Amino acid sequence: LTQAKYLHSGVEIYHGGQVERQEALQVETALAKALQRQEFQVYYQPLIDAHSGRAVKIEALLRWKNPTLGMRSPAEFIPILERSGGIVPVGQWVLNEACRAAATHPDLRVAVNLSARQFSQGDLPGTVRQALQASGLPPHRLDLEITESLMMQSPERAATVMGRLKETGARVILDDFGTGYSSLSYLARFPLDGLKIDRSFVNALSETSGQAIIRAIVQLGSTLGLEVVAEGVETPEQHALLKQLGVPLLQGYLFGRPQPQLPDTPG
Ligand code: C2E
Ligand code: MG
Ligand code: MG
Ligand code: MG
Repeated sequence: LTQAKYLHSGVEIYHGGQVERQEALQVETALAKALQRQEFQVYYQPLIDAHSGRAVKIEALLRWKNPTLGMRSPAEFIPILERSGGIVPVGQWVLNEACRAAATHPDLRVAVNLSARQFSQGDLPGTVRQALQASGLPPHRLDLEITESLMMQSPERAATVMGRLKETGARVILDDFGTGYSSLSYLARFPLDGLKIDRSFVNALSETSGQAIIRAIVQLGSTLGLEVVAEGVETPEQHALLKQLGVPLLQGYLFGRPQPQLPDTPG
């Protein structure tokens, strides 16, 4: 009996693995055609001034809906696009969409996420300049979000490209701060304009150690002249604590989920 059970589960595991591989292949094939088939959409999530409660910025977040595979998460498909190189044209499309949308608003700033591939392949500064020109968005209203792993992958190249990105007039923000492996000395060495405190630290706010970490990041940011944002704010308690800790900009489900339209225009 024991052996039969074992065999049975063995077959199931094998079968499950095959189904998963088949689905992964389906996703990859569909993803390669998704841009051309207009299956991508950009959603926008507000960033709120902690004091006034008003939206001052939006983050552009990519969404993919395929007729047969349904809605897929960026956590799943962005890594696939990075591996295939598809993130280069898709990233360019996101930049154009986000700049065009932000330009319809009188003063909102917009943040666009960048991948390592966009740094190492093609002419990213030229792409950014084109998106700004085509949309008419004033350059200081565009933020480019990068990650620590992107900076650490090839620091020399990253610093060079970042310098050229800054020449376009856009600003560069370090996303998911505190989750990577960069040394603090990098913060001063790279031409950064801001830091986004990762959601995991906001989650840990109920512990005194979590508060201490955020207090330290806020201090570091103000010493280095960096704009500090906290992401993943979900409760009024977190909002109150972050405001008290001096975090000027907040983002999270408490203020609004990513949605296909811009937040309401003031007035
Ligand atoms: P990210 O840049 O750190 O974006 C923030 C993520 O946190 C988004 O997930 C957002 O929906 C989610 N989020 C916002 N507020 C809350 C909250 O209060 N609670 C929780 N639990 N989550 C919250 P999303 O849209 O699924 O994107 C995941 C990641 O995919 C992004 O993380 C970013 O790294 C990447 N990504 C998304 N769009 C693009 C893109 O156009 N290009 C590139 N290269 N990467 C992108
Ligand atoms: Mg981001
Ligand atoms: Mg983030
Ligand atoms: Mg994050």
